[in-house]
Amino acid sequence: MQRVNVGHKALADYNSLIGRALAEEIRALAEPLKGRRMLHLSATAFGGGVAEIQYTLIPLMIDAGIDAEWRVIQGQEEFYDVTKTIHNALQGDERGLSDGQRAIFDGYNKLNADALADADEWDVIVVHDPQPVAIPEFVQTTRPRWVWRCHIDLSTPNLEVLDFLAPRLRAYDACIFHMPAYVPRGAGLNEAVIWPPAIDPLAPKNMALAPDDAAYIVDQFGVDVSRPLMLQVSRFDPWKDPLGVIDAYREVKRAHPAMQLALVGSMAHDDPEGWEYWNRTQDYCNEDPDIFMFSNLNNVGAVEVNAFQVQAAVCIQKSIREGFGLTVSEALWKSRPTIGGRVGGIVAQITDGQTGYLVDSPEECARRTLDILADPGSTRDMTRRAKEHVRRRFLMPRLLRDWLALMHRMAGEETVALEVVAGD
Ligand code: UDP
Repeated sequence: MQRVNVGHKALADYNSLIGRALAEEIRALAEPLKGRRMLHLSATAFGGGVAEIQYTLIPLMIDAGIDAEWRVIQGQEEFYDVTKTIHNALQGDERGLSDGQRAIFDGYNKLNADALADADEWDVIVVHDPQPVAIPEFVQTTRPRWVWRCHIDLSTPNLEVLDFLAPRLRAYDACIFHMPAYVPRGAGLNEAVIWPPAIDPLAPKNMALAPDDAAYIVDQFGVDVSRPLMLQVSRFDPWKDPLGVIDAYREVKRAHPAMQLALVGSMAHDDPEGWEYWNRTQDYCNEDPDIFMFSNLNNVGAVEVNAFQVQAAVCIQKSIREGFGLTVSEALWKSRPTIGGRVGGIVAQITDGQTGYLVDSPEECARRTLDILADPGSTRDMTRRAKEHVRRRFLMPRLLRDWLALMHRMAGEETVALEVVAGD
């Protein structure tokens, strides 16, 4: 397993954004936890929401006095093929797992468990998502409490694959989900806790960037910054529906011939479908010179994503399934008019007509884009409300508070309220 170097962040830098009450609460929660040890395990340090969160959460935990560390498990393509099938099945895909795939999954989990020689030296071990979920089965520990952090939409799972995972989930003292609807019924969980993820307002991805600077960056990618731009930032994945975004753009372009579209997507190394879907999306663009596709391989990193979001006339996350959709909060935080699919965690971030628009089809997405372009006044009010909504609910210090509260709970001390759903 590889330890991830997360650098340094200071909680005090966030005080002016989060207000005194939350800063005080975090300080009070952290004080008695100083020196406690928390290990996080996940599948990748690059691409997608989990990595995005960890790069801020871990340094903030360390700044709060927790001895926190993040490691990435080892795997090969055959393993990631299986875990992608599991990921898709848990979000509702009908394809199940063969016996061979189950054996590959267990084999890599055992391999990583064997590499976890210091497991008993931690107070809490947090396992993210399904890839490493079976690790506790293969290690003998007495000290750590085990926590599973689920980042995906489990509301309509393929039951055969859920049955495969359920006995593994029962090994955890607590499982955390973004929304109550994601708690798998009948899985016999010991405890389910609900809290949404969060974005880092001070990371290069989200820090304040002047419109001129954003335009200067986006211009370098060949986009005409004097013309309007629709944008979707997301992995190339059918659940993110980039083809639906292209359909919406085509419809908008009939009324606004100057419109351009950028699809920006990072290639996560645990996402073997990414390239296949990238190619499919590229074919679908049909060589339209006003559609741009970029990835981290074209040097589109965090600052560039920030610049594209600031520059966009409309930010879109037209998912048809979505664990949370951090990109929505990222766009709202930048006061950009935002349209999201009416699914999963997007619904917690966008109140339709109040802080953005929720849509069910490319046609509706196009219509809402036209509404936004036609009425800058109401759009401005909407984006102001949206930014405040994100500030209150979806910034990283709130997530740190939730983790600290859970650490207290794991140690048998109740402090502040957490949303806990009894296991069944
Ligand atoms: N992201 C990025 N570059 C890209 C595409 C995505 O940095 O080209 C980031 C995006 O800004 C967000 C995360 O990856 O922070 C995606 O998280 P989200 O919850 O939206 O979706 P997930 O990929 O976890 O399903």
